[in-house]
Amino acid sequence: MKLRRKLICAASAALMLFSGAGLLPGEMPSVSRPIVAEAASFTVNSTDVRLYAVQPDQKDYITIPSKYKKKFQLSVSGASDVSYSVLYYGDNGPVKVSSSGLITVSPQTQYQYRKDGYIWTYSTPQPGLELYRKISKVIFGTFTVRVSSGSEYVDVSVQVNDYSSVFVDNKLKTFVKETLSPLNDDKQKITEIAKYIAGYDYDYHYYTYRDMLIFGGGDCWASTGLACELARRAGMEAWERAGNMDLGAGSGHKNAMVKTADGRYFEVEAGYSGTAPRSYRVTERTSLFSYHYNTALEGKHIYQYDGFGDTVLDVPAELDGEPVVSIGSNCFNRNSSNYSPVSIHLPDTVKEIGSGAFFGRESLTEVNIPEGCTKLGEYAFGNNGMTSITVPSSVTEIGAYAFGFDKISDQPQKIESFTVYCEPGSAAWEYAGENGLARIAPPTPGDIDRNGSIDSIDLELFTVYITGGSDTPDIAVGDLNDDRSIDLRDYALLKRKLRDAKKEI
Ligand code: CA
Ligand code: CA
Repeated sequence: MKLRRKLICAASAALMLFSGAGLLPGEMPSVSRPIVAEAASFTVNSTDVRLYAVQPDQKDYITIPSKYKKKFQLSVSGASDVSYSVLYYGDNGPVKVSSSGLITVSPQTQYQYRKDGYIWTYSTPQPGLELYRKISKVIFGTFTVRVSSGSEYVDVSVQVNDYSSVFVDNKLKTFVKETLSPLNDDKQKITEIAKYIAGYDYDYHYYTYRDMLIFGGGDCWASTGLACELARRAGMEAWERAGNMDLGAGSGHKNAMVKTADGRYFEVEAGYSGTAPRSYRVTERTSLFSYHYNTALEGKHIYQYDGFGDTVLDVPAELDGEPVVSIGSNCFNRNSSNYSPVSIHLPDTVKEIGSGAFFGRESLTEVNIPEGCTKLGEYAFGNNGMTSITVPSSVTEIGAYAFGFDKISDQPQKIESFTVYCEPGSAAWEYAGENGLARIAPPTPGDIDRNGSIDSIDLELFTVYITGGSDTPDIAVGDLNDDRSIDLRDYALLKRKLRDAKKEI
């Protein structure tokens, strides 16, 4: 299945991020062109040249067909003493032009240095830094070759295109046309896709589907990418699914989710290790939640949500006839960018919410904690869009920074305006008090500020109610005699309550 990941991936990502730094066409030094009053008196056979190339390491795997030009011969009429140059670049440029006007693509030598855990790539040697390695890379983009004769010149635009994109696209198109298009059933199409991917070797060196198609192998990420791309080309929706929490899967494992035109969901697993033909699996999903059995709580434990695009989620109360009893750690934070939930509703069967379960979803503004839930993990509700939370008294165990805190650079950061709705004396009440979060008790007539007790401050606030100083008197706390209005009779009752309370003391 899936073996390693983290290290190789981090290195590769860094490589991708920084390769080409300072080299791209958009980063060329700006040079103001001399204004030429009149067109040159000579002509060039083309001022718009398109060339194709592949990266040096792809040359053994891809042959560029002759109809895709790899070089171009410029010819000039109307001038004899002609010279050619590549603008903005020196000898280490992306294209070369010979003294006779032959334009060729020239891989650039790049110098890589390891610094601060990243690999930095430059087009020139960096004095004082220890070279990690030299690489040779074709730079794609549009460049300018200047054809000069005397004081006149003509600029030729040279576009260097990545032929490997054409190569990959052709492979995909051929497969879709020959294998998928004749089929009518989406499930059959998905099965053919999985089988096709399993026709490539597992190769941990390559983690994109493009590389898989070019070099003949790839890892589970590549396989997942290919499944998604082919499913989309066959007219279905598809997205990546985190697979590392599945039983027996390695860290970083991924597979694909595909939604058919008629609304069925399939999980596509074609990223197992081994050589082709590898095994694969296509499973129809009856639920978009991934779950297993929670022995301690005797019910289903949801560890992941595999959907895409939903904004309102109803977590089922039952899966396979058993109650859903717990929400796993990072449950809704697993598939990094798949969806933007606004509201998640939990059923009354849920007893435990794992750490970070609702962490990191900025779109998420509403989650209920069901009555009967007992435990909230640390940072369960951090870094999302919630500004308040209602915690029932059944919750007795609250992890550090479970709510009211974000986590910034691994440090807890209190959300100043966060409000906790809870019963006085409950665990949440204590938690809010200890952490300095605003806590609001359920409405009790007379407890105007809803701090869980009735005292002289409530009387002061009530005075504001009846003198018309408050725009929003709260009937739930202000109507002491339960006649659906706030008036002097309620005031009298509140005063009596305070007097009685004093007597008790
Ligand atoms: Ca009060
Ligand atoms: Ca009243």
